Amino acid sequence: SDEPTISITIVGASGDLAKKKIFPALFALFYENCLPEHFTIFGYSRSKMTDEELRNSISGTLTCRVDSRDNCGDKMEEFLRRCFYHPGQYGSDENFSELDEKLREKEGGRLSHRLFYLSIPPNIFVDVVRCASLCASSPTGWTRVIVEKPFGRDSKSSGELTRSLKQYLSEDQIFRIDHYLGKELVENLSVLRFSNLVFEPLWSRQYIRNVQLIFSEDFGTEGRGGYFDSYGIIRDIMQNHLLQILALFAMEPPVSLDAEDIRNEKVKVLRSMKNLQLDDVVVGQYKGHSKGGRAYPAYIDDPTVPKNSLTPTFAAAALFIDNARWDGVPFLMKAGKALHSRRAEIRVQFRHVPGNLYKRSFGTDLDKATNELVIRVQPDEAIYLKVNNKIPGLTMRLDSSRLNLLYSAKYTREIPDAYERLLLDAIEGERRLFIRSDELDAAWALFTPLLKELEEKKIAPELYPYGSRGPVGAHYLAAKYGVRWGDISSEN
Ligand code: NAP
Repeated sequence: SDEPTISITIVGASGDLAKKKIFPALFALFYENCLPEHFTIFGYSRSKMTDEELRNSISGTLTCRVDSRDNCGDKMEEFLRRCFYHPGQYGSDENFSELDEKLREKEGGRLSHRLFYLSIPPNIFVDVVRCASLCASSPTGWTRVIVEKPFGRDSKSSGELTRSLKQYLSEDQIFRIDHYLGKELVENLSVLRFSNLVFEPLWSRQYIRNVQLIFSEDFGTEGRGGYFDSYGIIRDIMQNHLLQILALFAMEPPVSLDAEDIRNEKVKVLRSMKNLQLDDVVVGQYKGHSKGGRAYPAYIDDPTVPKNSLTPTFAAAALFIDNARWDGVPFLMKAGKALHSRRAEIRVQFRHVPGNLYKRSFGTDLDKATNELVIRVQPDEAIYLKVNNKIPGLTMRLDSSRLNLLYSAKYTREIPDAYERLLLDAIEGERRLFIRSDELDAAWALFTPLLKELEEKKIAPELYPYGSRGPVGAHYLAAKYGVRWGDISSEN
């Protein structure tokens, strides 16, 4: 047939991300018949491997859907037969030309598109993009490049990286991945807002008291702190994942669902944000402690981290959007490692009911009666709304209950991994979930002055025990705005 073919090259194929996420996501797409009929996958990195060795190294990580295991083994074999490996240096024209020849051979003269996935450390991004675009770009179809974070470490370095990439690629060839945008519930955020009459009218300062964006991990760096130490939690989680969610949450309704329309609105809201003040930020770092006969290490016990490191493993911040919709509403962000739970969620706390007839029935604590909408991104995807109702019986006592949409109870289908969504979008040229250059600039413009100030003033992080709820400073920060963190209360 004369259907086009697609060649996908994973640069850094010997690494962790390739094995754990990228190859399994490609297999899932293949399994669901989402890849074109003709496709070839190449792994590329410096490690010496044969095709067979690559196949062996990834075969253990491929999985079929839990709900349909038909032909699982056959499908895996068929997929693996279409995976190949080419060893090479990252800055070598010669090695990329060899790859090009192998790609041409597999493409067999068809119209062919090429996708490169850069799953490598950032210091070699530009080398690879240069070689791939000059020596191995598609002669007949499109060529696209997926780039993994970090996209620089401040406005300046990020701008330089973008300029270097643009020497070889146009804006529409660059697909910057933020895998949070590929998560099912983050995608659903716009559906919830714009397809339900009952939410959008409440989506403003008039009814919303504050919005909380929470990310926590229940483990530390555990020997992988080398990369993390030069970035810290603000760059690793807040400036990208949490800020992206904030932008989607707070943007004005886009003209359409087109990528450019959505991204235009995201840029607008990012550019409307007030400068971040140091006294609206709390930084923390986990310390060792022992509990139940088990010793938990401090961040600085990680052998890949310097003993005097001031890198935050926790941060909380209050952000504000200076526009008509959100003036004065605190957007509280919190992100941390080595905390008591693993979760990512968005919590929307609504205002108190004015002149509440039932306030006595709640005792003195009006916060208990706050309507709260929670979008739990992970784990156990869910959307629930806390509402007040009467406890059945002869007395008038009220209770806060949940209207609960628990995905695992409602949907039997397995939720695809974020990388599946994003790879499919990149193949189809759907750019909605990828970060445009001006969006990235706006995100860095917000955080760069704060990061500079933290580093220049050598602000010491507040220590918190491994496995705890984080530094108390975060509570004071919320209290400053008359708010409580929703994830900490006894009934969250
Ligand atoms: P990785 O295992 O450290 O690196 C991937 C491959 O790059 C390695 O197998 C190695 O291949 C090559 N490489 C490593 N260090 C290098 C160096 N200093 N110079 C040249 N080549 C080097 O990284 P990963 O965990 O797979 O992640 C890939 C990229 O995605 C990283 O840049 C990371 O920042 C980003 N990222 C990772 C995650 C995650 O969950 N792991 C999440 C978000 C972003 P050869 O030695 O065979 O050439």
